[in-house]
Amino acid sequence: MKKYFVTTSIPYANSSPHIGYGMELVQADCLARYFRSKKLSTFLSTGTDEHGLKISEKASSLGLKPKQFTDNVSQEFKDLAKSLNINYDAFIRTTDQAHQKRCQAIWQLMLPDIYKSIYVGWYCVGDEAFFTETEVQANNGICPNHNRPFEKLEEENYFFKLSKYQDQIKEQILNHKMNIFPDSRANEILSLIDRGLDDISISRPKDKISWGIDVPGDDSQTMYVWFEALLNYLTVIGYPDDDNYKNYWPAKAQVLGKDILRFHAAIWPAMLLSLGLDLPENLYVHGFVTLNNQKISKSLGNVISADEITENYGIDAFRYYFLRHIPSYADGDFNWDHFKQTYQNELANELGNAVQRTVVLIDKYFADQTLEFNLSTHDRANYDQYMSSFRFDRALDLVWSQVRGLNQYIDETKPWLIAKENDLDHLKEVLVYQGDNLLEIADLLNCFMPQTAQMIKKIFTSQSKFRKILFPKVD
Ligand SMILES: [Zn+2]
Repeated sequence: MKKYFVTTSIPYANSSPHIGYGMELVQADCLARYFRSKKLSTFLSTGTDEHGLKISEKASSLGLKPKQFTDNVSQEFKDLAKSLNINYDAFIRTTDQAHQKRCQAIWQLMLPDIYKSIYVGWYCVGDEAFFTETEVQANNGICPNHNRPFEKLEEENYFFKLSKYQDQIKEQILNHKMNIFPDSRANEILSLIDRGLDDISISRPKDKISWGIDVPGDDSQTMYVWFEALLNYLTVIGYPDDDNYKNYWPAKAQVLGKDILRFHAAIWPAMLLSLGLDLPENLYVHGFVTLNNQKISKSLGNVISADEITENYGIDAFRYYFLRHIPSYADGDFNWDHFKQTYQNELANELGNAVQRTVVLIDKYFADQTLEFNLSTHDRANYDQYMSSFRFDRALDLVWSQVRGLNQYIDETKPWLIAKENDLDHLKEVLVYQGDNLLEIADLLNCFMPQTAQMIKKIFTSQSKFRKILFPKVD
């Protein structure tokens, strides 16, 4: 049975999770839950990228073996996923035996597009990436990301014939075989392709980088960390030895950050074409998250953890904020004042109150009766349209207009006055209408805020005496 395969990128396991990655997890989880709600068989994968010089250097500075170090960091990413209620199906680590074996098998399948040559150029360990002469000169020889000099490399590497595939990639993007959201990112990659893609180095000498996967048939070389990390999207579903991968590939959606667009929209598609595989149907590229409009970094000392938010305000408040108030198609900012305002005004006062105003009257006037609720069904075309174009923010705007509409209905209908007039039939009708609408709102919110949606459903399930204040006041 064909699966809807959704992936997150796999973060480099050299330091603790960044909150922007928490957002990526939530976006991918929201999509996967959305597909599941449509009864589509879905598979969500995430994981960690664990090889390379940067990790072995970091580990040795801490007196650890690289694997011990990445065991710890990888666990932090698993904990993050748990603390954000991410319902993933697979967590792949690039140090997994199965991944390593499969990467070697894939390398052999790609041999017609791999050749050995001398690489002369510049490298930054901080980025684990190669840089051109132009980039190095523009920065006076110092990597602006890491404030360390670029290293001059002259070494024998294996290369991948990326240039061979540039026309095919361009054609597939233009023909929507691979959609890139938002459009601005598609344009960015198209202009990159138009400037020409050079073949890329995909290995490093083992005497320089030993913490990696051996190139099959040449134990003097290890695979370039980026090359094998991208392959996680195939190895996690069993490619190439387990035919079951055919039920998963091509991926329905791959979620990634804008800083790794080139790897995912140029290099990765070329690797897939080399293997004779289809390109992913959709790439969704999110922006960066700042804190008080500043770049979040350890050196600036303004790191914020997901736990600081979830422990005080709940998981769903995190999910809601990052899915609605960080624009889906642009960069966004987190600051505590805005977050608290949002929590109070939108979650507690608007959504929480709509539930509360309904439940209080039900408990007062219909305590010994069972009211039957059935979720109302408005047209969902716009909501579905937003979800299929990764506009999480717009989809939530739509749900919120329904929440506001319901509060307005309550304000105008004034059920508490109907109760005072003792018109219980009319009161029942009004409260059932409110409950039916709340059930629909819960249904629409399920992929965004699963716990909240479940609580609302539980409250309005016939005979349920479950009561809970949603989004209580936080001091
Ligand atoms: Zn750098």
